[in-house]
Amino acid sequence: MNDFVIDAPASVSLPIVGSNARFPVRRIYCVGRNYADHAVEMGIDPRSEPPFFFLKPADAVLQPGESFPYPPGSQNVHHEVELVVALGQGGKDIPFAAALDHVFGYTVGLDMTRRDLQLAARAKGRPWDVGKAFDHSAPLAALVPAAICGHPNQGRIWLDVNGARRQSADLRDLIWPVAEVIGLLSQLFELRPGDIIMTGTPAGVGPVVPGDSVEAGIDGVATLSLVIGGRDGDH
Ligand code: MN
Repeated sequence: MNDFVIDAPASVSLPIVGSNARFPVRRIYCVGRNYADHAVEMGIDPRSEPPFFFLKPADAVLQPGESFPYPPGSQNVHHEVELVVALGQGGKDIPFAAALDHVFGYTVGLDMTRRDLQLAARAKGRPWDVGKAFDHSAPLAALVPAAICGHPNQGRIWLDVNGARRQSADLRDLIWPVAEVIGLLSQLFELRPGDIIMTGTPAGVGPVVPGDSVEAGIDGVATLSLVIGGRDGDH
């Protein structure tokens, strides 16, 4: 057994529907924009360029059932509901036709975003990390093995805040479907088992505030309930 000079960081994992075992999380890759209507609302021509990627740290995962602490440094924190893919196998230059064979399962997740900080960074050509990769910025539901839910390529993806629908689209609206996302990402990074991919959000992103109740889901896959907690220093 190795000794470390400080306590080793805890490993990050997710529960799995129908199993007592957990899924170890290695990296969280995210697709920048993958639904035409959201690209348009962000002022971008959706077909003008290939998909782009960014990352969140693995320990940005917020476990199912935990409340979301409203993060510091922002007055405009947005929800983005996304189909989440968990890889059971890795690889480089994975052919599109073989890509789904690398998937362990799926779930629904939120790419929580400090929109004010993200847009300020975008305007200055700076990295997005402070807008996207903050603590607890990846609330996820339990993973559903593909053996249970199949490989979803259609079905409603939706998000409600306090019972009002904010986001609603169909997985058929993905510009780059899951197999292409895996294939393109594997041309840039060697993917590994335990990697998670958040595949982008449809239109309707918007702010949450402390006390909000968020419900999100992907029909036939999973649902997620999230309470927005107080800002740091609130009691
Ligand atoms: Mn996103």
